Amino acid sequence: MEIDIPESHPRAESLKTREMLIEGCKENVVAYAGLIAHGRGEAFDYLIGEKTIPSASRAVQAAAAALLAAKHAVISVNGNTAALTPGEIVKLSEVTGALIEVNLFYRTPEREEAIGKVLKKAGAGRILGIGSAASARIPELESERRRVDPGGIFIADVVLVPLEDGDRTEALVKLGKKVITIDLNPLSRTAQLSSISIIDNVVRAMPLMILEAGKLREKSYNDLCTIIKSYNNRKTLKKAISHIASRMNSLARKGVYIKLVS
Ligand code: ATP
Ligand code: MG
Repeated sequence: MEIDIPESHPRAESLKTREMLIEGCKENVVAYAGLIAHGRGEAFDYLIGEKTIPSASRAVQAAAAALLAAKHAVISVNGNTAALTPGEIVKLSEVTGALIEVNLFYRTPEREEAIGKVLKKAGAGRILGIGSAASARIPELESERRRVDPGGIFIADVVLVPLEDGDRTEALVKLGKKVITIDLNPLSRTAQLSSISIIDNVVRAMPLMILEAGKLREKSYNDLCTIIKSYNNRKTLKKAISHIASRMNSLARKGVYIKLVS
């Protein structure tokens, strides 16, 4: 790490996360645009209150059930997720049986390799989507963004796409896939178009998904389907937006004062 962040720093967690992304950028895992995307996420996290809200926990439960009930689930990994939660990606794949596929917006062979290396170091076995393995094409998308693995996302019925772009989410939904996303912005096209949107930081949501999948693992297929069917994504988005609105209203009413400790 470039700088030493004292535990007592009021924003230590957030600064550590930034440092992980900066390191990832140096190792060619994170794209420059990934740093900017993180900034947008951080802004929403500030508004949310940097805590997992109840509607996000409900979405996590539905997402875990969907991954477990899937015939062919895939976790799509981009640079930011690989830099922030490599161990959690591997654990979630182990608990749910979902495959891991590297899928990048800014795809270069070097970045694919660098991300593959990070995942291997975290304990991953088979990793799809690297190099010539990404030989299938998603219709409707242009150039390198459309490349996927024919044994992975191409044939998947459920895809977890943490921090995805709206266009690609739309293309996956149009192909009939159940799309699960983790996105701090309830207003993003990705959050609005996905089947299950976890409005939370990927750093908090991934460990929760692992816990939840561990709990639901013994459930029958029918029980999992009941959880999935009773889930309503429009409600999740409405709850996240009204959480932000009421939090902002309450802070506006009370006023915000930071007291200096003398
Ligand atoms: P969309 O294309 O879906 O409309 P966008 O163009 O605003 O969204 P992108 O850059 O395509 O955003 O994708 C990045 C998304 O990831 C943003 O919505 C941002 O809020 C979210 N994000 C960034 N960092 C995190 C994080 N650590 N945890 C969860 N979400 C994050
Ligand atoms: Mg976008």
